[in-house]
Amino acid sequence: MTSYRVTCIPGDGIGPEIMAATKVAVAATGVTIDWIDVEAGAEVMDKYGTPLPQAVIDSVRDTKVAIKGPITTPVGSGFRSVNVGLRKELDLYANLRPAVSIPGVVSKYEGVDLVIVRENTEDLYAGVEHMVGKDAAESIKIITRKGTERIARFAFEYARREKRKKVTAVHKANIMKCTDGLFLEVSREVAGDYPDIEFEDRIVDNMCMQLVQKPELYDVLLCPNLYGDIVSDLCAGLVGGLGVAPGANIGLEMAVFEPVHGSAPKYAGLDKADPTALTLSASLMLAHLGEAAAAHALFEAVRAVIGEGKRVTYDLGGTSGTKDMGEAIAEAVAKRI
Ligand code: NAD
Repeated sequence: MTSYRVTCIPGDGIGPEIMAATKVAVAATGVTIDWIDVEAGAEVMDKYGTPLPQAVIDSVRDTKVAIKGPITTPVGSGFRSVNVGLRKELDLYANLRPAVSIPGVVSKYEGVDLVIVRENTEDLYAGVEHMVGKDAAESIKIITRKGTERIARFAFEYARREKRKKVTAVHKANIMKCTDGLFLEVSREVAGDYPDIEFEDRIVDNMCMQLVQKPELYDVLLCPNLYGDIVSDLCAGLVGGLGVAPGANIGLEMAVFEPVHGSAPKYAGLDKADPTALTLSASLMLAHLGEAAAAHALFEAVRAVIGEGKRVTYDLGGTSGTKDMGEAIAEAVAKRI
């Protein structure tokens, strides 16, 4: 049987607890994983002098696949986000965020099935920011043909592989005619190579309203970095919130799987946080490794446990802790393998 080496970054806050629960659920699939545990985040600053030690980057380069818990980014401290740093350092240019309704998760919507493909390295996240004197600040938005072309191709290839029908490019080209104009122009050019997939575009503010009013009209959303960040949280809200939203950061050679949510520090160490988003991220990871049956079993097990509603965390209306919900998912996986 194949054994996979996967870098594991538990993160901080609720990260270590949801990671432990996820590992239990993954083990139940029978796929053998040799987890290479590495440390990153605010808590390792004293030990390594940086929140993103070189050993973490080296390990992901070596194993090519990683799973990551959330990491706290203190606001306005000059301490760079480990999450953004890792994506840039490893050139994980595509951020994939499925937003799929799960029966049993309380939400105003049913049957939502969207995927956000977010560009992960450019836009206002390039980090080119400075003060102009004391009373003004400037941030530079960077959009390139190369960056847009590869993310647009990623979105169309993904749509084709997953048998999805439509890609919608999200932009504000009416106002930002150069940057978002280029994003739209290149997205249109790439769409020409995929006549089997429908293509359309939406201005980001209208897109937000449309998603709230009729999410069923949309399928794959192709977004520059900042709009992708915002729109994906909106879509997470459509399917029940951050606790259930998985994600993947994918490059040409490497991939890092992580939930959309952050480190929820107020719940750290309380055995309270919902492991769903990270466990669903692990399902995406198993699919990426080519373990389709295990990925499917894990996905279905999460849906079954939530659907039953007996051993779920507070955010899903239950009283179970992180650990118990992880064990319930593992038991449900075992029935499906
Ligand atoms: P957050 O996602 O950590 O938490 C917001 C709220 O959502 C929480 O208070 C909680 O009510 C709920 N929540 C989130 N995840 C949950 C879970 N698994 N189970 C149950 N409830 C959950 O967002 P925030 O408070 O804005 O950010 C906290 C820290 O996380 C910040 O430092 C931020 O920079 C960082 N962050 C990291 C990542 C990442 O590592 N990829 C992503 C987003 C935010």
